[in-house]
Amino acid sequence: MIIKIKAGLSQDVIEQLTKKCEAFHINYLNEEFLITGAAVKELPEAVKEVAIENWVFQNDLQLASSAFLPVKREVKIGNVTIGGNTKNTVVIGGPCSVESLEQITQSTQFIKSLGLQVLRGGCYKPRTSPYSFQGMGLEGLKLLAKMRDEFGVAVITEARDATHIDEIIEYSDVIQVGAKAMYDQGILRACAKTQKTVLIKRGFGTTLQEFVQAAEFVLAGGNPNVVLCERGIRTFETGTRFTLDLCGVAWLKKYTNLPIILDPSHAMGYAYGIADLARACVAMGIDGLLIETHPTPKTAKSDASQQLNHNEFEAVINSLKPVASSVGYTIC
Ligand code: PEP
Ligand code: MN
Repeated sequence: MIIKIKAGLSQDVIEQLTKKCEAFHINYLNEEFLITGAAVKELPEAVKEVAIENWVFQNDLQLASSAFLPVKREVKIGNVTIGGNTKNTVVIGGPCSVESLEQITQSTQFIKSLGLQVLRGGCYKPRTSPYSFQGMGLEGLKLLAKMRDEFGVAVITEARDATHIDEIIEYSDVIQVGAKAMYDQGILRACAKTQKTVLIKRGFGTTLQEFVQAAEFVLAGGNPNVVLCERGIRTFETGTRFTLDLCGVAWLKKYTNLPIILDPSHAMGYAYGIADLARACVAMGIDGLLIETHPTPKTAKSDASQQLNHNEFEAVINSLKPVASSVGYTIC
Protein backbone atom coordinates (compact mmCIF):
# COMPACT_ATOMS: atom_id res chain seq x y z
CA MET A 1 0.00 0.00 0.00
CA ILE A 2 1.15 3.53 -0.69
CA ILE A 3 -0.02 6.04 1.89
CA LYS A 4 0.28 9.76 1.33
CA ILE A 5 0.69 11.43 4.72
CA LYS A 6 0.34 15.00 5.95
CA ALA A 7 3.16 17.41 5.24
CA GLY A 8 5.06 18.98 8.11
CA LEU A 9 5.35 15.94 10.41
CA SER A 10 8.63 15.79 12.31
CA GLN A 11 11.33 13.30 11.30
CA ASP A 12 10.77 11.52 14.63
CA VAL A 13 7.06 11.04 14.02
CA ILE A 14 7.68 9.83 10.47
CA GLU A 15 10.28 7.37 11.74
CA GLN A 16 7.88 5.98 14.34
CA LEU A 17 5.13 5.56 11.75
CA THR A 18 7.55 3.93 9.36
CA LYS A 19 8.56 1.42 12.05
CA LYS A 20 5.01 0.69 13.19
CA CYS A 21 3.83 0.03 9.64
CA GLU A 22 7.03 -1.78 8.58
CA ALA A 23 7.10 0.70 5.74
CA PHE A 24 9.50 2.72 3.63
CA HIS A 25 9.28 6.49 3.75
CA ILE A 26 9.92 8.63 0.69
CA ASN A 27 9.47 12.23 -0.27
CA TYR A 28 8.31 12.55 -3.87
CA LEU A 29 7.81 16.00 -5.41
CA ASN A 30 7.64 17.51 -1.92
CA GLU A 31 4.98 15.13 -0.68
CA GLU A 32 5.48 12.46 1.96
CA PHE A 33 4.61 8.81 1.40
CA LEU A 34 4.83 5.57 3.34
CA ILE A 35 5.03 2.34 1.37
CA THR A 36 4.22 -1.06 2.84
CA GLY A 37 4.10 -4.42 1.10
CA ALA A 38 1.13 -4.98 -1.21
CA ALA A 39 -0.31 -7.56 1.21
CA VAL A 40 -1.52 -4.64 3.34
CA LYS A 41 -5.04 -3.89 2.09
CA GLU A 42 -6.49 -1.91 5.04
CA LEU A 43 -5.10 1.43 6.18
CA PRO A 44 -2.99 0.65 9.30
CA GLU A 45 -4.42 2.04 12.54
CA ALA A 46 -1.18 3.93 13.29
CA VAL A 47 -1.49 6.21 10.25
CA LYS A 48 -5.23 6.81 10.20
CA GLU A 49 -4.90 10.31 11.61
CA VAL A 50 -2.22 11.49 9.23
CA ALA A 51 -3.17 9.69 6.03
CA ILE A 52 -4.46 11.88 3.19
CA GLU A 53 -4.81 9.28 0.45
CA ASN A 54 -3.90 5.67 -0.09
CA TRP A 55 -3.50 3.20 -2.94
CA VAL A 56 -4.06 -0.54 -2.66
CA PHE A 57 -2.21 -2.95 -4.98
CA GLN A 58 -2.48 -6.55 -6.12
CA ASN A 59 1.29 -7.04 -6.01
CA ASP A 60 4.51 -5.20 -5.28
CA LEU A 61 4.44 -3.16 -8.46
CA GLN A 62 3.55 -0.02 -6.50
CA LEU A 63 5.71 3.10 -6.78
CA ALA A 64 6.50 2.20 -10.39
CA SER A 65 2.86 1.61 -11.29
CA SER A 66 0.59 3.69 -13.48
CA ALA A 67 -2.11 3.16 -10.84
CA PHE A 68 -0.04 5.37 -8.51
CA LEU A 69 1.07 7.93 -11.12
CA PRO A 70 -1.12 7.91 -14.23
CA VAL A 71 1.27 10.27 -16.02
CA LYS A 72 4.74 8.90 -16.56
CA ARG A 73 7.36 10.39 -14.28
CA GLU A 74 9.84 12.88 -15.72
CA VAL A 75 13.45 11.82 -15.53
CA LYS A 76 16.61 13.54 -16.68
CA ILE A 77 19.16 11.89 -18.92
CA GLY A 78 21.87 14.53 -18.72
CA ASN A 79 20.22 17.74 -19.94
CA VAL A 80 17.41 15.92 -21.72
CA THR A 81 14.16 15.39 -19.84
CA ILE A 82 12.19 12.31 -20.84
CA GLY A 83 8.84 10.98 -19.68
CA GLY A 84 6.04 13.20 -18.40
CA ASN A 85 4.47 14.96 -21.34
CA THR A 86 7.80 15.70 -23.00
CA LYS A 87 7.46 13.21 -25.87
CA ASN A 88 11.23 13.18 -26.14
CA THR A 89 13.05 10.14 -27.46
CA VAL A 90 16.62 10.49 -26.27
CA VAL A 91 19.20 8.64 -28.32
CA ILE A 92 22.10 7.33 -26.28
CA GLY A 93 25.06 6.42 -28.46
CA GLY A 94 28.61 5.28 -28.01
CA PRO A 95 30.75 2.18 -28.04
CA CYS A 96 30.12 -0.95 -26.01
CA SER A 97 33.39 -0.37 -24.14
CA VAL A 98 35.66 2.56 -23.54
CA GLU A 99 38.90 1.27 -25.09
CA SER A 100 41.32 4.20 -25.33
CA LEU A 101 41.46 7.99 -25.25
CA GLU A 102 41.57 8.08 -29.03
CA GLN A 103 38.59 5.78 -29.51
CA ILE A 104 36.34 7.49 -26.97
CA THR A 105 37.30 10.95 -28.25
CA GLN A 106 36.32 9.94 -31.79
CA SER A 107 33.04 8.53 -30.46
CA THR A 108 32.26 11.67 -28.47
CA GLN A 109 33.04 14.01 -31.35
CA PHE A 110 30.82 11.93 -33.57
CA ILE A 111 27.90 11.88 -31.11
CA LYS A 112 28.21 15.65 -30.72
CA SER A 113 28.36 16.21 -34.48
CA LEU A 114 24.91 14.60 -34.77
CA GLY A 115 23.50 16.93 -32.12
CA LEU A 116 23.15 14.12 -29.59
CA GLN A 117 23.93 14.79 -25.95
CA VAL A 118 24.46 11.49 -24.20
CA LEU A 119 27.51 9.26 -24.51
CA ARG A 120 27.57 5.69 -23.30
CA GLY A 121 30.61 3.51 -22.85
CA GLY A 122 31.24 0.55 -20.57
CA CYS A 123 34.24 0.49 -18.23
CA TYR A 124 33.41 -2.58 -16.14
CA LYS A 125 32.14 -5.18 -18.59
CA PRO A 126 30.13 -8.16 -17.38
CA ARG A 127 31.60 -10.67 -19.85
CA THR A 128 30.49 -14.23 -20.32
CA SER A 129 34.12 -15.36 -20.52
CA PRO A 130 36.95 -14.43 -18.15
CA TYR A 131 39.31 -14.36 -21.16
CA SER A 132 37.41 -11.57 -22.94
CA PHE A 133 38.19 -7.86 -22.52
CA GLN A 134 36.92 -6.87 -19.07
CA GLY A 135 36.94 -3.08 -19.52
CA MET A 136 39.33 -0.31 -18.51
CA GLY A 137 37.83 0.14 -15.05
CA LEU A 138 38.59 3.39 -13.24
CA GLU A 139 40.89 4.53 -16.04
CA GLY A 140 37.90 4.31 -18.40
CA LEU A 141 35.68 6.25 -16.01
CA LYS A 142 38.27 9.01 -15.97
CA LEU A 143 38.21 9.10 -19.77
CA LEU A 144 34.41 9.45 -19.70
CA ALA A 145 34.71 12.32 -17.21
CA LYS A 146 37.24 13.96 -19.54
CA MET A 147 34.76 13.64 -22.42
CA ARG A 148 32.08 15.31 -20.31
CA ASP A 149 34.43 18.16 -19.40
CA GLU A 150 35.74 18.71 -22.92
CA PHE A 151 32.58 18.16 -24.96
CA GLY A 152 29.73 18.84 -22.55
CA VAL A 153 28.08 15.45 -23.08
CA ALA A 154 26.35 13.54 -20.30
CA VAL A 155 27.87 10.12 -19.70
CA ILE A 156 26.34 6.80 -18.85
CA THR A 157 28.25 3.69 -17.84
CA GLU A 158 27.40 0.40 -16.23
CA ALA A 159 28.00 -1.10 -12.83
CA ARG A 160 29.10 -4.74 -13.06
CA ASP A 161 28.94 -5.42 -9.33
CA ALA A 162 28.68 -3.60 -6.03
CA THR A 163 32.44 -3.38 -5.43
CA HIS A 164 32.80 -0.34 -7.70
CA ILE A 165 29.29 1.14 -7.53
CA ASP A 166 30.53 4.21 -5.62
CA GLU A 167 32.99 4.97 -8.42
CA ILE A 168 30.26 4.62 -11.03
CA ILE A 169 27.97 6.94 -9.08
CA GLU A 170 30.77 9.47 -8.71
CA TYR A 171 31.84 9.53 -12.35
CA SER A 172 28.65 9.03 -14.36
CA ASP A 173 25.58 11.18 -14.94
CA VAL A 174 23.39 8.13 -15.46
CA ILE A 175 24.10 4.78 -13.82
CA GLN A 176 23.43 1.76 -15.98
CA VAL A 177 22.54 -1.42 -14.17
CA GLY A 178 23.24 -4.18 -16.67
CA ALA A 179 21.04 -7.12 -17.56
CA LYS A 180 23.21 -9.46 -15.52
CA ALA A 181 23.50 -7.03 -12.61
CA MET A 182 19.85 -6.11 -12.16
CA TYR A 183 19.39 -8.61 -9.33
CA ASP A 184 22.43 -7.28 -7.45
CA GLN A 185 21.04 -5.95 -4.20
CA GLY A 186 24.24 -4.09 -3.40
CA ILE A 187 23.98 -2.14 -6.65
CA LEU A 188 20.25 -1.48 -6.33
CA ARG A 189 20.52 -0.32 -2.71
CA ALA A 190 23.43 2.00 -3.55
CA CYS A 191 21.47 3.40 -6.51
CA ALA A 192 18.58 4.13 -4.14
CA LYS A 193 20.82 6.39 -2.07
CA THR A 194 21.81 8.74 -4.89
CA GLN A 195 19.53 11.04 -6.86
CA LYS A 196 21.31 10.33 -10.13
CA THR A 197 19.25 8.68 -12.83
CA VAL A 198 19.43 4.90 -12.87
CA LEU A 199 18.83 2.97 -16.08
CA ILE A 200 17.94 -0.62 -15.27
CA LYS A 201 18.27 -3.18 -18.03
CA ARG A 202 15.98 -6.16 -18.05
CA GLY A 203 17.73 -9.44 -17.40
CA PHE A 204 17.36 -11.79 -20.34
CA GLY A 205 15.53 -14.35 -18.19
CA THR A 206 13.58 -11.82 -16.16
CA THR A 207 9.80 -11.51 -16.09
CA LEU A 208 8.27 -8.07 -16.40
CA GLN A 209 7.17 -8.25 -12.76
CA GLU A 210 10.71 -9.05 -11.55
CA PHE A 211 12.04 -6.29 -13.77
CA VAL A 212 9.82 -3.59 -12.27
CA GLN A 213 10.45 -4.92 -8.78
CA ALA A 214 14.16 -4.21 -9.29
CA ALA A 215 13.05 -0.64 -10.02
CA GLU A 216 10.92 -0.68 -6.85
CA PHE A 217 14.07 -1.28 -4.78
CA VAL A 218 15.54 1.97 -6.06
CA LEU A 219 12.27 3.93 -5.82
CA ALA A 220 11.38 2.71 -2.32
CA GLY A 221 14.92 3.43 -1.18
CA GLY A 222 14.47 7.10 -2.04
CA ASN A 223 15.60 7.67 -5.64
CA PRO A 224 12.67 8.57 -7.93
CA ASN A 225 14.85 8.80 -11.05
CA VAL A 226 14.57 5.40 -12.63
CA VAL A 227 14.33 4.43 -16.29
CA LEU A 228 13.67 0.93 -17.63
CA CYS A 229 15.56 -0.55 -20.56
CA GLU A 230 14.31 -3.49 -22.61
CA ARG A 231 17.30 -5.15 -24.28
CA GLY A 232 16.01 -8.52 -25.42
CA ILE A 233 15.14 -11.73 -23.64
CA ARG A 234 16.22 -15.30 -24.28
CA THR A 235 13.80 -17.41 -26.26
CA PHE A 236 14.17 -20.70 -28.17
CA GLU A 237 15.49 -18.69 -31.13
CA THR A 238 19.23 -18.76 -31.75
CA GLY A 239 19.34 -16.96 -35.13
CA THR A 240 19.49 -13.62 -33.34
CA ARG A 241 21.31 -13.00 -30.07
CA PHE A 242 18.12 -12.30 -28.07
CA THR A 243 14.49 -11.44 -28.86
CA LEU A 244 13.43 -7.82 -28.33
CA ASP A 245 10.23 -8.02 -26.32
CA LEU A 246 8.02 -5.31 -27.81
CA CYS A 247 4.95 -6.90 -26.20
CA GLY A 248 6.73 -6.38 -22.91
CA VAL A 249 7.27 -2.73 -23.81
CA ALA A 250 3.55 -2.31 -24.45
CA TRP A 251 2.91 -3.89 -21.03
CA LEU A 252 5.42 -1.58 -19.32
CA LYS A 253 3.85 1.45 -21.01
CA LYS A 254 0.43 0.45 -19.74
CA TYR A 255 1.24 -0.68 -16.21
CA THR A 256 4.20 1.42 -15.13
CA ASN A 257 5.01 5.10 -14.77
CA LEU A 258 8.68 4.78 -15.68
CA PRO A 259 10.24 6.08 -18.89
CA ILE A 260 11.24 3.25 -21.21
CA ILE A 261 14.39 3.05 -23.30
CA LEU A 262 14.95 0.33 -25.87
CA ASP A 263 18.24 -1.25 -26.80
CA PRO A 264 18.04 -2.93 -30.20
CA SER A 265 21.84 -3.48 -30.28
CA HIS A 266 22.05 -6.10 -27.55
CA ALA A 267 18.77 -7.69 -28.61
CA MET A 268 19.81 -8.26 -32.21
CA GLY A 269 23.48 -8.94 -31.67
CA TYR A 270 24.22 -8.14 -35.32
CA ALA A 271 24.60 -4.78 -37.01
CA TYR A 272 22.37 -5.71 -39.94
CA GLY A 273 19.10 -5.64 -38.00
CA ILE A 274 19.59 -2.56 -35.85
CA ALA A 275 18.16 0.06 -38.24
CA ASP A 276 14.89 -1.79 -38.77
CA LEU A 277 14.53 -2.60 -35.10
CA ALA A 278 15.30 0.96 -34.04
CA ARG A 279 12.55 2.28 -36.32
CA ALA A 280 10.11 -0.30 -34.97
CA CYS A 281 10.96 0.78 -31.41
CA VAL A 282 10.54 4.48 -32.15
CA ALA A 283 7.21 3.80 -33.87
CA MET A 284 5.91 2.55 -30.50
CA GLY A 285 6.40 6.00 -28.95
CA ILE A 286 9.27 5.42 -26.53
CA ASP A 287 11.39 7.61 -24.29
CA GLY A 288 14.77 6.59 -25.57
CA LEU A 289 16.99 4.35 -27.62
CA LEU A 290 20.38 2.96 -26.82
CA ILE A 291 22.48 2.03 -29.85
CA GLU A 292 26.09 0.94 -29.90
CA THR A 293 28.43 2.61 -32.37
CA HIS A 294 32.19 2.32 -32.73
CA PRO A 295 34.68 4.17 -34.97
CA THR A 296 35.89 0.79 -36.32
CA PRO A 297 33.47 -1.95 -35.23
CA LYS A 298 35.68 -4.75 -36.55
CA THR A 299 38.38 -3.91 -34.02
CA ALA A 300 35.97 -3.41 -31.08
CA LYS A 301 37.06 -5.22 -27.93
CA SER A 302 33.48 -6.20 -27.05
CA ASP A 303 30.25 -6.69 -28.99
CA ALA A 304 32.04 -6.19 -32.32
CA SER A 305 29.33 -7.86 -34.40
CA GLN A 306 26.55 -5.51 -33.36
CA GLN A 307 28.21 -2.11 -33.28
CA LEU A 308 27.35 0.26 -36.12
CA ASN A 309 30.06 2.23 -37.83
CA HIS A 310 29.57 5.99 -37.84
CA ASN A 311 28.01 6.13 -41.30
CA GLU A 312 25.51 3.43 -40.42
CA PHE A 313 24.66 5.10 -37.12
CA GLU A 314 24.11 8.48 -38.75
CA ALA A 315 21.84 6.93 -41.38
CA VAL A 316 19.76 5.27 -38.64
CA ILE A 317 19.38 8.51 -36.68
CA ASN A 318 18.24 10.37 -39.79
CA SER A 319 15.73 7.67 -40.61
CA LEU A 320 14.29 7.79 -37.08
CA LYS A 321 13.28 11.43 -37.18
CA PRO A 322 10.21 11.09 -39.45
CA VAL A 323 9.14 7.93 -37.60
CA ALA A 324 9.35 9.72 -34.26
CA SER A 325 7.43 12.74 -35.52
CA SER A 326 4.71 10.53 -36.99
CA VAL A 327 3.92 9.36 -33.45
CA GLY A 328 4.35 12.84 -31.93
CA TYR A 329 7.85 12.33 -30.52
CA THR A 330 11.12 14.21 -31.06
CA ILE A 331 14.52 12.58 -31.35
CA CYS A 332 17.01 14.39 -29.10
C1 PEP B 1 26.05 -3.29 -22.53
O1 PEP B 1 25.18 -2.41 -22.41
O2 PEP B 1 27.11 -3.12 -23.15
C2 PEP B 1 25.72 -4.59 -21.95
C3 PEP B 1 26.64 -5.42 -21.50
O3 PEP B 1 24.40 -4.83 -21.98
P1 PEP B 1 23.48 -5.90 -21.23
O4 PEP B 1 23.65 -5.64 -19.78
O5 PEP B 1 22.12 -5.57 -21.76
O6 PEP B 1 23.95 -7.26 -21.67
MN1 MN C 1 27.61 -4.05 -25.43
